[in-house]
Amino acid sequence: MPLMRRVRVARSRSAVRWFWRGCAAWLLALLSAPSLATGDCEHAHAVELVRDVHIDAATLAELRTLPPLKALAIDAPPLVSYNPETRRHEGIGIDILCFVGERLGVHFEFSEPDRHQPVFDKLRQVQQGQADLILPISDLASRATQGIFSEEFSRSYYAAIGRRDANILLRNASDVAQYRLDYVAGASIEAMLRKVVPEAQLQPYDNWYDGSLFNAVKRGDIDLALYNAHVFTEKRFVEELFDLETKYIFEDFPRSYRFYFSNSPAHERLVEAMNRFLPALDITASVRAHQEGERIFLERYESKRQQAIWLFVVSVVAGLLCLAALLLLWRHRRQLRRFKKRNKQFEQERRALFEEKQKLESLSLTDPLTNVPNRRHFDERAKIKYAQNVANGTQLSLLIVDVDHFKSVNDHYGHDKGDEYLRSIAATLSDVLARHVGGVARYGGEEFICLLPDTDAAKARSIAEAMRRAVEAARLPNETVTPPWVTISIGVATLLHGDPGLPGLLKQADVQLYRAKQQGRNRVCTTIIGK
Ligand code: GH3
Ligand code: MG
Ligand code: MG
Repeated sequence: MPLMRRVRVARSRSAVRWFWRGCAAWLLALLSAPSLATGDCEHAHAVELVRDVHIDAATLAELRTLPPLKALAIDAPPLVSYNPETRRHEGIGIDILCFVGERLGVHFEFSEPDRHQPVFDKLRQVQQGQADLILPISDLASRATQGIFSEEFSRSYYAAIGRRDANILLRNASDVAQYRLDYVAGASIEAMLRKVVPEAQLQPYDNWYDGSLFNAVKRGDIDLALYNAHVFTEKRFVEELFDLETKYIFEDFPRSYRFYFSNSPAHERLVEAMNRFLPALDITASVRAHQEGERIFLERYESKRQQAIWLFVVSVVAGLLCLAALLLLWRHRRQLRRFKKRNKQFEQERRALFEEKQKLESLSLTDPLTNVPNRRHFDERAKIKYAQNVANGTQLSLLIVDVDHFKSVNDHYGHDKGDEYLRSIAATLSDVLARHVGGVARYGGEEFICLLPDTDAAKARSIAEAMRRAVEAARLPNETVTPPWVTISIGVATLLHGDPGLPGLLKQADVQLYRAKQQGRNRVCTTIIGK
């Protein structure tokens, strides 16, 4: 069993390999396919037989055994030209070849043309048997010895082609003698030209495959190019050679176009058979179908114009969009600038208001005379501090300071002096307290108050004593009393336990102040609540 499976797997692998090889071969065949497939014979129906042509069965049988013939083409619309878009050869010559080939059972293969290969090279290929035939070719005696010409399938005339702006006047063929001219070497007109044109003005041209003949005229290297009149008419449109024009047509020198085969007995028989068909063909429809240089030009022009219109419309729309985008951007930036400016103003105003508010707040919380916090400020702060101390269960002390005999200061020294004393006393008290926690506030009149958080009775007393001593040490004169300077009395209440409330604490401190006054002033009296 495993052996069988291996065999089957090996077979299927080789089948896959063969499949891919087949695909590759098919692709290769497709890429290198001869360009004269059935598609190239698109217009073959444009050729008609006007009378019966009989080819004997033996010849037919022999021709049918011929392998596909390798054909070369010269770019000469409307007879033959290569269409790079369809990658096919087209033209009257192709239609005829298709028509006759079909009847004779002969196939032709064209490969993609090399535009830079000179005609002489192609001719040589046929003459040396590397290719089977070439078209269209005009008959020359020299060529006839090296290959086999069919009968003529198209006829044209030589034309003298010059620049439109060149002042060239040709009334008859011999007038070309005044100009410098190029002609295709070996052309039938050569003998006449050699007779009338001085040799220095005459150039046989053998490299006319890539349009350089016309370029020589355009550049002014030569005055005239002798060229097939029909082919020029086509090329003039197809290649847009509008600065050139036909100056003269040599009607006495018809140019006959033929198929040209390499020398071989089989080709002889083939040409013989073809020659029976050629005079019996009506190619009017084919000629009409391929003389289309003007149409191609107009289509190209039209499509260019359409493109230009589209390009214009697209650019205008794109331009407008850009403009709109720029406008929006500009507006956006302007608004952004305005917003920023307004924001700055708002910010300045806000800061000014804030400063004003702070100033007002500080004014509303500061005693204007002594510049220490006022009673309102004290009440606000003390409430918070009291609540925190009660919550923490830590001790808290409150001091009330009253200036002794202050009324007499006013009475004796005047109210202004009294104010000055008040300022001085406030500063002294603040100085003492600055070394401790808490702050002094003016409680009203000549009374000051101070809440000392986390301060026990002993510390509170020592602070109070320090205050008293400091005021006494200032020796603010009050000669109406003994001692003759200003003193203060302080009542201190320390909260040890419980919660009598801030007013309760205050009341107790006030009681102690009263005691201090009663006991003779200039002293500190303390009490502890919750002992
Ligand atoms: P004691 O407290 O020792 O009993 O006597 P005292 O003279 O200080 O008594 P009292 O408290 O009755 O007097 C306080 C005085 O303080 C009355 C008032 O004229 C004066 N006073 C209150 N506020 C001011 C003030 O802002 N400036 C001045 N100059 N005096 C003030
Ligand atoms: Mg008082
Ligand atoms: Mg007093």
